[in-house]
Amino acid sequence: MTDRTPGFDTLQVHAGARPDTATGARQTPIYQTTAYVFRDAEHAAALFNLQEVGYIYSRLTNPTVAVLQERIATLEGGVGAVCCSSGHAAQIMALFPLMQPGRNIVASTRLYGGTVTQFTQTIKRFGWSAKFVDFDDPQAVADAIDDDTRAIFGEVIANPGGWIMDIDSIAKVADDAGLPLIVDNTTATPYLHRPIEHGATLVVHSTTKFLTGNGTVTGGCVVDSGKFDWSASDKFPSLSAPEPAYHGLKFHETFGPLAFTFHGIAIGLRDLGMTLNPQSAHYTLMGIETLSLRMERHVENAVKVAKWLEQDDRVDYVTYAGLESSPYNDLAKKVCPKGAGSLFTFAVKGGYDACIKLIDAVEIFSHVANLGDTRSLIIHSASTTHRQLEENQQRAAGADPEVVRVSIGIENAEDLIADLDQALTKATA
Ligand SMILES: *Cc1c(COP(=O)(O)O)cnc(C)c1O
Repeated sequence: MTDRTPGFDTLQVHAGARPDTATGARQTPIYQTTAYVFRDAEHAAALFNLQEVGYIYSRLTNPTVAVLQERIATLEGGVGAVCCSSGHAAQIMALFPLMQPGRNIVASTRLYGGTVTQFTQTIKRFGWSAKFVDFDDPQAVADAIDDDTRAIFGEVIANPGGWIMDIDSIAKVADDAGLPLIVDNTTATPYLHRPIEHGATLVVHSTTKFLTGNGTVTGGCVVDSGKFDWSASDKFPSLSAPEPAYHGLKFHETFGPLAFTFHGIAIGLRDLGMTLNPQSAHYTLMGIETLSLRMERHVENAVKVAKWLEQDDRVDYVTYAGLESSPYNDLAKKVCPKGAGSLFTFAVKGGYDACIKLIDAVEIFSHVANLGDTRSLIIHSASTTHRQLEENQQRAAGADPEVVRVSIGIENAEDLIADLDQALTKATA
């Protein structure tokens, strides 16, 4: 290769992959193996001591998964990545090295419904907690930080409404407090936005969504920017101090910018076991090859559908940040100049009941709890993904009872509009 830095479209096809050294296979093989033969006892010891990087056992590392890790890290501009069995696993894996019982995170109120539940309920079992704050107000984020806070967590294009986070302002708050900013970039993908360039420390993904792109497998990923100084304070002893779970190894001192990545594999995957399997990694690698092409069409279609909905009398409002009328439009142009994604909500005149009728009347849209598929998807968040929340929490999250959420696919926009048109007629009759 020449000295040129390859562009995104080239990297999404090539990063991390090379022809198989044994066979020349051009496509990345699916290394369907549990274990790897050591050259000799000395080699085995070096691998277990982390003195040599190599393959031991597929709960920790696998060559197919390693290609995916390198590809996502490259596309995000990070130094390393750890793939996991789902997006939710990736969130736990991101927090695990930073947290201890009694510690908290400051999180946006506008998060994927499952993340709100994970952060309000499940992490309590580990002795962790989350404080939810409106990220439109960076001062409120700063005010919520206390001595036990260990991370700030938000979504760039927030589910379900597609609002845009003012990432530069939030990154400054995190930086001033000496805390890592964790950004869920699932709905934007690195094609529309690269959080590390705006100050994020870690990027998490549900690769289940746009990265795989076709609704076949679940997976997740944590990308490490390599930029955070874990030793600047005594807040992150798992990374800065001797780690008892790895015979006293000091990860930051030993691995420098790769400390988080090595910890994620050597301890996170080893002990929590939220491992991505090589078959799933294969599907996701196939998907990523066409990421930019799909995202361009997702965005083009989302703009067309949102504009059509906005002028329709049966619709009260549309939350798409790509619309000139959105209060997030200026921020969207700055944060996601290639487009504001393809996820948004719209309010149907007739409220909750009309939403339910609309969902039952669509023909091309699929009624599923998923997003980021080639297919257009629709769901009524308040009665499904955000059902566990109180109504005030639903409204704070943007899952108001009178809105439906859509994830616009890559079909012909005219067909999507026609489908919504006939469904709105039935819903508001
Ligand atoms: C789906 C999703 C998750 C959870 O990912 P899974 O792969 O379903 O575990 C987290 N964040 C966002 C924004 C998502 O869309």
